[in-house]
Amino acid sequence: MTDFRIETKCIQSGYEPGNGEPRVLPIYQSTTFRYTSSEQMGRLFDLEESGYFYTRLQNPTNDAVAAKICDLEGGAAAMLTSSGQAASFYSIMNLAQAGDHIICSSALYGGTYNLYAHTLKKMGVEATFVDPDCTEEELNNAFRENTKVVFGETIANPALVVLDLEKFAAAAHKHGVPFIVDNTFATPINCRPIEWGADIVIHSTTKYMDGHASCVGGAIVDSGNFDWEAHKEKFPGLTTPDETYHGIVYTQKFGKLAYITKATAQLMRDLGSIQSPQNAFLLNLGLETLHLRMARHCENALAVAEYLKNHEKVAWVSCPSLPGDKYYDLAQKYMPGGSCGVITFGLKGGRAAAVEMMDKLKLVAIVTHVADARSCVLHPASHTHRQMNEQELMEAGVQPDLIRFSVGIENINDIIADVRQALL
Ligand SMILES: *Cc1c(COP(=O)(O)O)cnc(C)c1O
Repeated sequence: MTDFRIETKCIQSGYEPGNGEPRVLPIYQSTTFRYTSSEQMGRLFDLEESGYFYTRLQNPTNDAVAAKICDLEGGAAAMLTSSGQAASFYSIMNLAQAGDHIICSSALYGGTYNLYAHTLKKMGVEATFVDPDCTEEELNNAFRENTKVVFGETIANPALVVLDLEKFAAAAHKHGVPFIVDNTFATPINCRPIEWGADIVIHSTTKYMDGHASCVGGAIVDSGNFDWEAHKEKFPGLTTPDETYHGIVYTQKFGKLAYITKATAQLMRDLGSIQSPQNAFLLNLGLETLHLRMARHCENALAVAEYLKNHEKVAWVSCPSLPGDKYYDLAQKYMPGGSCGVITFGLKGGRAAAVEMMDKLKLVAIVTHVADARSCVLHPASHTHRQMNEQELMEAGVQPDLIRFSVGIENINDIIADVRQALL
C-alpha cells in the first residue's frame, strides 16, 4: 500500500482478502493453530519458517493491524502490545540491559516517566532526563559510553512540548544509537517521525488510534533504518547469537526485521504483553477513521484554545498550533497540518479555580483519558502526575494549575458553550 495516500492507507492497509474471503478483517479468536506435520511445527519454533502457532507470539488479526500501523508510519516492521506502557518498556528493553543507560526528553507522559526513572532503574538501566529545549551541546554532553537509546515524545503529554525531532535524531546518530519516538499524540496523520530521523516509533493505541476509549493497546514500529551491525558492540542482543534459538543472529537472519523479530521472539515470548485479537479488531475500526477524526479534533482544539486565550479569567493557554505558542514554529515545521486535540490552560485563580471550573463542566467530563471522541478534562497535578514533587512537575512541563483539555469531536458550539458556563 506504499503508493497510496495516508487516508487510503487508514482504510485499506494491512489486510487484503483473497477471492471469496471475508471483506472485513476477521477476529482470529484462537490461542493456537493446527499443523499436520510435527517437523513443520519444529521449524516454526526454531524461527526457521514463519507461521502462526501460538497467539502469545503472533496472531493473524494482530499482525494485520500492526501492518496497517507500520504502513501509516512508513516503517519496515511492527508489532502490537497490550498497552502503550508495554510498548515503551519493550522498545527500550529490546536494546538495553542492566548496566546500560538511556537519554530521554524530560517532557514525558507520567507513566513513561515512572517506568524509565524508577522501574527501569530497579532493573539496572539508568535514565538521564534532558530538557527538550536544550542546546545541541547540552544534549551531546548527556551521552555516556553505555548509552543505548535516545527517547522522546513528538508532542509531550501533557506538557504539549513539540520535540525538535531533527536535533534529537542527529545527536543519537552521532553517538551511534537509535532515536525512539512516542508518536501517540500527533499520530502518523499529523507527523511521521521516521521522515525526520526517528528509528523506532511507538504508540499508545489507546488514544487517537482507537479513538473511542474502548481498548487499551500499544504498538512498536521499526523503520528498519538503523544499522545495528555498524554499532555491533553496543547491541550484542541483535548482533550476536541467541542461544534460545540455536544461536541465530537476528541482524544476519532477519535484516530490516531484526529488531521487531527479536522483540517478538524474546520479549513477547517471555513477558507476554500481547494485545487481544478482539481489541486489535476494534483498534482497526478506529484506524479506519483516524484521518477524519484527527482533522476534527485539531480544528475543535484550535477553536477552544482561541476562545480561552481571549477569556478574562484565563491566565495562559498552550496549543502548539495556536499562533504565538512557544512551540508554534516547531509545530509548523513537523506537523503543519495540525498537532493534536489536546490543549492545556491555567486560570488566573490558580489551582483552586481549576478544580472549581472542572467540577462545573457538564458536557465535558472529568476522565483519566485523552484523545477519544468525547471531550474531557483532567488536572495532572492531582491525577496522572500526583506522584511527582513540585520540581519534577516543573521539569515535566506540568504547572500545578494546568488543566489538560482533550477536545473531542462533538459540535464546537456545544463544547464552547459548556466551557463558557463553567467559567461564569
Ligand atoms: C497514554 C500514553 C502512554 C501509555 O499508554 P497506555 O496505553 O495507557 O499504557 C504512553 N505515552 C503517551 C504519550 C500516552 O499518552
